[in-house]
Amino acid sequence: MSELTIGILGGGQLGSLLCLSAKKLNINTVVYCNDKDGPAQIYSNEFIFGDYRDKTKIQEFIKKVDVVTYEFENIPYETLDLINQYKQVKPKPAVNKIVQHRLYEKDFVNKCNISTTRYVSIKEKSDLNANIKLIPGFLKTCKLGYDGKGQYKLNNVSDLESLNIDFSKEYILEKMINLKKEFSIILTRYGHSIHSVYEPIENEHENQILKYSKIPANIDERILLKAKDWASIIADDLDYIGTICVEYFIDKNDNLYVNEIAPRVHNSGHLTINTYNISQFENHIRAICGLEKQELKKLCNAKMINIIGDEIVSYRSKKYSDNEIFFDYEKKEIKRNRKMGHLTIIQK
Ligand code: ADP
Ligand code: MG
Repeated sequence: MSELTIGILGGGQLGSLLCLSAKKLNINTVVYCNDKDGPAQIYSNEFIFGDYRDKTKIQEFIKKVDVVTYEFENIPYETLDLINQYKQVKPKPAVNKIVQHRLYEKDFVNKCNISTTRYVSIKEKSDLNANIKLIPGFLKTCKLGYDGKGQYKLNNVSDLESLNIDFSKEYILEKMINLKKEFSIILTRYGHSIHSVYEPIENEHENQILKYSKIPANIDERILLKAKDWASIIADDLDYIGTICVEYFIDKNDNLYVNEIAPRVHNSGHLTINTYNISQFENHIRAICGLEKQELKKLCNAKMINIIGDEIVSYRSKKYSDNEIFFDYEKKEIKRNRKMGHLTIIQK
């Protein structure tokens, strides 16, 4: 066993896959999670169940690890900052402060001279009435949203009448894009301009939840090059260490926009496990542990299917061929719209 132990905040499937990669590199893992059933405990060396604001439990976690990372962005900034005073958090907490807030995130992207959808901060109902030019649009909570949670699709101005939302939270209203395609760029940054970039991944969502990902993306090469360039600028500007994902929209006129940034490994990158010599998970562990960047080699093409809610039942009893890799997240409870597993289909 190596002497190195990484701490991972969050214990879902991304945590599981990070633990599996760490194991391959002979690195120990301690997962800290606010769900006592967090599935990453199946793969971690140690698991701590606790609230993300429980300072005593967090101190216990800090003592056990050498470096800390997170598998989802909604960890309180104060907690990351506290941990960072004792053990390095990578990517650094300042990154999280920007990216976990949709308004700060979009302001940051625009500051880099990179396009996003048009948007406005919404603090009260009258702000909506003053910004009907952004409807059709999406009203989203600035914090804590994922997989379409905390989002309201506004097709018409009349949808505002039935809207009943809690204005103690901050919101953002985004203009709806007439979508042609969605895709993501995943890259791992080891230091300034030391990037390991994966091939762009084309994504298809159903009900605002990722359903399919594939490489190669069937998208104009010039657009993909621009997106790779933007992702590199974003990672360098954030002084990011580890794996980052930038999600993109292309509209019907071939305009490119950054949708959002995930400061972590990403669901669309599950297929990198089987299509590259080094997956996004292994690359993340390598970068945060200060290991040297290895050259990426693509092995094959693939398509990934997210298995959502009770779809998992039939997938569990299926027989798979050699080119199909099924991963069951082993979540205790099946819930509607919950990601329960994924299937990667290798295409030579
Ligand atoms: P989440 O944090 O839940 O992933 P996103 O902002 O990425 O939130 O939204 C999820 C999905 O909803 C997007 O991938 C896209 O399919 C759709 N969507 C969100 N915002 C817009 C928009 N402004 N225009 C068109 N589609 C959108
Ligand atoms: Mg998204």
